[in-house]
Amino acid sequence: MIHTLTSITHNINFTASLSSFNSKRSRPGKLARLKQRMQRDQEAVRKIPEEWEDLLIDSHFHLDRMVTHEQFKKCKTLTDIENEVSHLAKFGMGVANFCDPNTWFQINQWIKTDLRIVYTIGLHPSHLTSSPVTEQELAFIGNCLGSPHCKGLGEIGLDFKYAKTQHQVDMQRNNFMDILRSAPLHPRHVVVLHLRSQRGWNAYQEGLKCIITLQKQHHKFHVHCFDGGYQDVQDWLRECPNTMFGITGLVTVESNMRDAAKFIPTDRLLLESDSPHLPPTNHSIPNNPWLLTKTTYSLSHIKNLEFPVMRQILNANVVKCYNLK
Ligand SMILES: [Zn+2]
Repeated sequence: MIHTLTSITHNINFTASLSSFNSKRSRPGKLARLKQRMQRDQEAVRKIPEEWEDLLIDSHFHLDRMVTHEQFKKCKTLTDIENEVSHLAKFGMGVANFCDPNTWFQINQWIKTDLRIVYTIGLHPSHLTSSPVTEQELAFIGNCLGSPHCKGLGEIGLDFKYAKTQHQVDMQRNNFMDILRSAPLHPRHVVVLHLRSQRGWNAYQEGLKCIITLQKQHHKFHVHCFDGGYQDVQDWLRECPNTMFGITGLVTVESNMRDAAKFIPTDRLLLESDSPHLPPTNHSIPNNPWLLTKTTYSLSHIKNLEFPVMRQILNANVVKCYNLK
């Protein structure tokens, strides 16, 4: 478990701690590693263009699902949605995920109407428990990945809440591997993963095994709405060094999410609303990206960083991961 610098210095004698931290390990001590990380964070802040600083960037949301809710039913553009909500920050940019084949036809319409929207294309695992992915679906995904507006593949993955039998688990796993194997991925693409464990099946470990089997560890991964454990983070970072972990509004509500946010390195965090799902505390569905300010406040508290610094780091992380400049 990684603690903040303040909590470590608060709990122990500072002078004694330095030598005991360093004497216990041959690798750099815990304090030294924390200092290195803080230095990396400061470097990340320096790299962010000034004009992005007071903006908020949503690394993962669902425009197509948002407009199925009564509040946004009449909205045709992002500006229409913007007019419906109270603004806690300016919307800088967002990565819209299209993972439901019945709304794939909307992609062009959304992209054309607002330069602030880029997208990823995928197939949610809930669609893939009973039948194999089709050639047409794979062809459509391949086509999208050739577009400069398309930043990656996803969400795809494993959701054992929807797979109740061994046959359904196998079907999801085969479909996940088929999509990953056949998608024409370029190093610029991010692979957005939806992994949900259930009934003793650990989706984080199963997903990792699939990626290793396909030898795709070198890709950039965005493990969306991460709710796994410390060991899962360690295993992913060891095997797939370009992994980022998405944190949603649930971090304001659920203690396991707060724990996860504590042990994920700061430079591996991606801020995501997952709108219209997973609103932060005191808000009901539909969620919207403008509420991400609350999630950022929560993260700044967990990471013991000033709010503007936290926001800058989160923006820098998403800009770098998704090549948003
Ligand atoms: Zn999502």
